[in-house]
Formats: sequence, structure tokens, C-alpha cells
Amino acid sequence: MKYGIKEIADIINCSSVINEPAEKISFLLTDSRKLLYPEESLFFAIRTKTGDGHDYIPALKQSGVKNFVVENIPDNVDDGCNYLICDNSIQALQELAAAHRNKFNIPIVAVTGSNGKTIVKEWLYQMLCNRLNICRSPKSYNSQIGVPLSLWQLDESHKLGIFEAGISTTGEMENLQKMIRPLICIFTNLSDAHDEGFASREEKLMEKLKLVKDCRMLVCRKKYGIEKYARQINRSIFVASWEIDDKNSDYNFHIESNAGQSNVSVVHNGEKFEFTLPFTDEASLENAMHCIVCSYLLGETPFMYNLEHVEMRLTLLEGIRNCTLIDDSYNSDMNSVIMALDFMAANAEQKKLKRTVIISDINPGGRKENDIYAELASLLKKKDIDRLVGIGDSICKYSKLFDCTKSFYPSARDMISAGEKFDNEIILIKGARHFGMEIIVAALEKKQHETVMEIDLDALVHNFKSMRSNIAPRTKTMAMIKADAYGCGDLEVAKTLAHHHCDYFGVAVTDEGVELRKAGITSKIIVMNPEPSCFERLISYNLEPEIYSFKLLGEFANKVDAQGLRNYPIHIKIDTGMHRLGFVPEETGMLAAGLKARPTVKVASVFSHLAAADDPTADEFTKQQLEIFDKTTKELRQHLGYGFIRHILNTAGIWRFPEYQMDMVRMGIGLYGVGLTPENDIRNIATLKTIILQIKHVRQDETVGYNRKGVLSRDSRIAAIPIGYADGLDRAFGNRKGYVLVHGQKAPFIGNICMDVCMIDITDIPGVQEGDEVIIFGDKLSISELAEKTGTIPYEILTKVSKRVKRVYLS
Ligand SMILES: *Cc1c(COP(=O)(O)O)cnc(C)c1O
Repeated sequence: MKYGIKEIADIINCSSVINEPAEKISFLLTDSRKLLYPEESLFFAIRTKTGDGHDYIPALKQSGVKNFVVENIPDNVDDGCNYLICDNSIQALQELAAAHRNKFNIPIVAVTGSNGKTIVKEWLYQMLCNRLNICRSPKSYNSQIGVPLSLWQLDESHKLGIFEAGISTTGEMENLQKMIRPLICIFTNLSDAHDEGFASREEKLMEKLKLVKDCRMLVCRKKYGIEKYARQINRSIFVASWEIDDKNSDYNFHIESNAGQSNVSVVHNGEKFEFTLPFTDEASLENAMHCIVCSYLLGETPFMYNLEHVEMRLTLLEGIRNCTLIDDSYNSDMNSVIMALDFMAANAEQKKLKRTVIISDINPGGRKENDIYAELASLLKKKDIDRLVGIGDSICKYSKLFDCTKSFYPSARDMISAGEKFDNEIILIKGARHFGMEIIVAALEKKQHETVMEIDLDALVHNFKSMRSNIAPRTKTMAMIKADAYGCGDLEVAKTLAHHHCDYFGVAVTDEGVELRKAGITSKIIVMNPEPSCFERLISYNLEPEIYSFKLLGEFANKVDAQGLRNYPIHIKIDTGMHRLGFVPEETGMLAAGLKARPTVKVASVFSHLAAADDPTADEFTKQQLEIFDKTTKELRQHLGYGFIRHILNTAGIWRFPEYQMDMVRMGIGLYGVGLTPENDIRNIATLKTIILQIKHVRQDETVGYNRKGVLSRDSRIAAIPIGYADGLDRAFGNRKGYVLVHGQKAPFIGNICMDVCMIDITDIPGVQEGDEVIIFGDKLSISELAEKTGTIPYEILTKVSKRVKRVYLS
């Protein structure tokens, strides 16, 4: 909506010098740093304790601003600009905002109170924005200047306005009330904040309540006792009071909280509403109740599934490769885009960085997509944005609108996989929460000298499902999570797979099982190597032992007996050819007798382990193992007189001998990303990565590392990376036997691998800088390839990554 300059002069009723009567105004500016559109901006020169807006007029004129509201006339007014001369610029701003607001006959909600104003405003917006196009205050614009700027955003498309009103001293609320003229007021609560501006708490309350002067309805919590004071100001006001478990309130909420959630029910007009909120703290609940009651007063059912935490601050982070990041990965409406761009402009200036915006689809808030992206394109242009990365299908559709360097991806993850490079840029990362833009922030943030192993839990689930699809639905699954889930972290793996209905977990020792129990894993857990010294712990944590010898059987049964328990589940291991642990088939009769003599224990399952399921040349032997197992277990069942779960297949067995799946299979290495053939449909889950600490030019006649083993054949660029054999990196990779990936290209290890650090040769990779990422293994450099190089197996590579390497989980 545009106003002519003369129209504005009339509204604020002031004297003026009009040199350009045709000037139109769309934007109000009170802070010269936030200048976006010089042609259509009206600058209010405001005097505060700390500064004088009049000082910025010359610079603004230089930038093309032509319209000014001033308190005193500049020396030379013959300059083609327009000056509106008033007594008080803030007052003029407020009068203009009030006149603008009066053009719209829509419900306006005003939010005041000591705490929670911004959250209540944002949540009310979130609850209703799917149905109504809403104009709301940006951030916490609730002051004498913030409120008029907020109201100025109202236009014909809005169906509802939500504005904050905040005051710090007497006399302020009257101004705000006159401007906002709300239909509904929400009074959040009353605390001691800002007491210094008031003579008493009561004075503060009465001042705040001036907001309700001409309004129709007030939403408040009964326990604050605001109602009677509100009536002193507005006799005929309709008060909608709410409380928790109080029949005398208009809205009587009942709340049951557990496990981080609150189940809320409320009876209103004889109708019962029930919903779940994703928090349990008193302040959040109070804020949400205000919004819910207000929604009902507006005749709307609140939409509750998408309440997002309200982040109030943009954060500046140090990025990789000399970049600066602005993390605003919380929301994506147009207002907040403007604010974020302002913030970016302010920070880019000091550092002279290129400007890049990575942004997800924008919440259209009831407007046409086309308009939204056209507006975004023009904003980016005004703010001199050099580069755009769009994330999402909608923004991609409008790619033509943007005329800067640009690229588009369906998701944040796709952008990361594509390996976009950023250099000396200030990067605004902005998007709705469900786009998961935080993974971009994580990828671009400069890490402290850190070597991490990233575990992709989505890939883990994929692998689980992929193997599951190879067997019958009724067949149970056991995930082997011994040795800290092959180094990937048993807790996270167990939690993830328990969620996907994995039936059993297999750990190596009792303590591993105990840790899982302590972390809340309730699934069945088998301890493969139960140490007799730990039997008591094992029993008290409800873990189930593998029993592989008569000695162990006797000892365990006695321990169970001592605790007065019966039928304690155990798992019998049969040695069918591996010759490691287990009862041999010839012992079946004796085993059955031993078991029958000990009613304290009951066989839950019987199993065996294949020695070479992955090796086609040993298939005859494997078949023999399978047959021996089948025969032995059938015999045992006959002797015992009761059934049990039978299982023998490991990962390779699941792929190669699914006809022997029996009642359960045991998944191991496949879960962790190593398949036999591409048909196995297994994804890598672990990426071991680090960063470059230091780069050196080393002359051909010099050497690198201990014992001068790193001999050079040419002048070289050598990078040091913080990973060594103490992190689990095999020393055998040194001296060019192995390599890492830098920018996706091979960089061989040079010299001996040291304990904590090693060196790589990056001579052939252009543009590498300190801080760049280095991949030891991952999607593009597989664990299997590494294993082959040093003559070991993928299992060892994975489990060797030492505890001091931090595990980072992605999902
Ligand atoms: C480790 C282990 C497995 C899993 O083997 P993978 O080859 O990794 O699938 C299965 N069963 C037993 C008894 C194990 O110890």
C-alpha cells in the first residue's frame, strides 16, 4: 500500500517542504542501517538518549532517500527532497501508523504482560496461520517505535493482526492502545520486571491494562486476579478467564504431563477438546493456554501439531573456509527473512564478505507463491546478495525469478551430498524447521580440531529393513551390538532398532548389557560372553546369558537358584564346526539331561554360528554346519519336551542361506554398512572424518615425519591432520599405502603415521585450505577398501576406531 507524500503530511498534520510532490511512500525507516528501498522510504529522524537520527540524513540522501520526517529544518532544503517538519518524530510515526491501522476492519489481537509476549504472539500465529493470513509484529517489536512499524505492515490481504505491546514506564500504553485498537487483549502474566519505571506493582498493572480501554475481550489467567482491575478501565469488557483445574474459570483446563508431553483437555460450551502439547513446563503451558483460549474467541479451532520453539536470536558462527554463518534455521516467513537480511548486511559490511543466502521454501502465509518468491527475489537484489541456494520444491519452481549465482536442491541433505563449496562468504542459513537446515549449519560450521565418526542412523534403519526384507515376517531379528555396536555406539543403535521392532540385542559382556538397561532399553538382551563373576549383575538387570559349557550351565543355574528364581531364560550355543565355544553335537543327550535336572533355567533359544557363510568356496562346509544344527536342535527338543527359538544365520547367512532362517536371524556387519554384493542393498553408515590442521610447502630434498620415512620426489604441499594410530588408524596405511579424500580427491598418507597426527600429500589437489574436511572412510571410500589394503576385514577397521573419537549421530 502506497501513500503520497502530501497525504502523509496531512495525516501527521505538520508543516512541510515538498520539492517532489509525486513521491510515494511504502516503507518507514527509523534506523538508517536497515535501508532497503531508498525510492519509497520515509525516514523518521528520531532523537534518543544515545543518538540523533538527523545525523544520518546526508548519508541517506546519498543512497537515494528523498523523504524525511524531521524535528528541525536542514540548512539547505532546496535539494529535491521532501521534509515533513514536526515537533516529535516518534509521535508523527505513531499518528501515521494509527491512521494506517484504521483503514482495516479486521480483528486485532494485542498481547501484553510481563513475560511470554513474543512466544504467545508466535504460537497464536502458528496455531492459525494455516487458515488465516496474519500480520504480526516482527520479533519482539513492541515498543513505541516497534509497534507503529509493525502496524505499518498491515495490508488488504490480512485477515487478522497480532501485535505485541510492551511498556517500561507510565504514559506509554495509552499511545500503544490508540494505535493498535485491539479487539482482543491477551494479558500473559504479571511479574516484577521493569518495576523501576513504576511507583508500585499496582500502578504497573493499571498502566498495562490501559490496553483494554476500548477492547471487547480479555484473555487472562484467573490466578493473576486481573479481572477486577480490567473492569475499572473497561466496564463492559468480556473477560475469558482460564485456569488449570478450577471449575469457576471460563475455560477449565486439565493437564496430565509425562515423558515430555502434556495431554490437555478443556470443556468449553459443553464441547470437550483434547490435544497434546510437546512440553510440560509451566511457562510454556501458560503461554499455550492463552493462545488456545484466544483462538476459540476468534471462532477458530487452534491447529496444534506444529508448535515450534520460538528462537529470538540470530546466531553468528565461524564457518569453514573463512566463512561467517548466520544460523536462522528456525522459521521461514517473509518478515523474518527481511530481518535476517538486515542482520546479515550489518555484519557483511565490517568483514567485506560475499553474501550468500541458503533458504528453504517460504511459508506463504495465505499469499500466492508467485508473489512471495518475487518479493524474495527483489529483496535479495536490494540487499546485494551474490549467491542463492534454494532448498525445497517450491522455491525451485521459481528459480527464474532470481538473478544472482544460484543453485537449487530438493532437501538440505541433497545440498550437502552435492558438495557445494563456499569460500570467504557470509552465509545466511534460513528455513522452516522441518527442512532440517541445521545439518547445513553443522556441515559449514568450523569444527574445533576434531576427528569424528559420523553415524547415519537413517542408513542403519535402511540396512535393517533391507535385511529384514530377505526373511519371512514371522522370523525374529537379533541385532548384534557387541563391541559398542561394532564401534558405532551400542546405545544409539539399540534405541534406533528397538524403535523398529528388533526383537533381541546381542552384547559381548555383561557390562554392555547393564549400560543398555540403564539407558532404558527394555528389549531382550543376550550376553554372549557371560563372566561368572558378573552373574548377579546379569540377573538383576534381566539379561540373558549364552551358555556354552556344562561348567557354565552349573554355575549359572546355581546362581539363579540362590536367588530363588525359576525358568530363567538361557541360550544354548552349539558348536557345529566353528570350534570356538559351544556344546558339540555328541553332547546333546547329556546336555538335555543336565537341563532337565536344573528347572531354575529354561532354554529360550538354541543357536550356532557359521564359520564361513560369506565364502562360496566353503559352501559345502556351511551346508554341513546347517544340517548338523538342524539335526541337533531337533534331537534336543525331543529330549527336553518343549520348544525354543532356533537361530544360526549371521549377516552373510541371511543373504546366502535364507532357507535356514528358522525362528530368528542375527544381524551384524550388514547393519553397519558392509554388504557382500551391491544387490544386498546396504548403505554405508559410518564416516570417519577430520580436518586439516596445517599446510606446509616442503622441498623435494626434505623428508616428512619420524625416521625421515616420508621421502619426496618433488616439491610438495603436505597437510597435517589430527588422527593417528591411537585413534585406530592403522599404521600400515603410512608411507603411501593408504589415502584419504580431500575435496573428493585422493591424498596419500606420507611418512609414518604418528600416534595422534599424520601427514597427507595434497600437492595434486588445488585450492585446499587449513580447516578443510578430510575423509578417512565414508560413502566414497569404503571400509572394505581400507580393509583390503591392510589385509584385514571391515569389522576390524570399524571396531578399531578408538573411544576418544567422538561419535556424531545424524538422522
Ligand atoms: C558377531 C556375531 C554375529 C554377527 O555376525 P556378522 O557377520 O557381523 O553378521 C552373529 N552371531 C554371533 C554369535 C556373533 O558373535
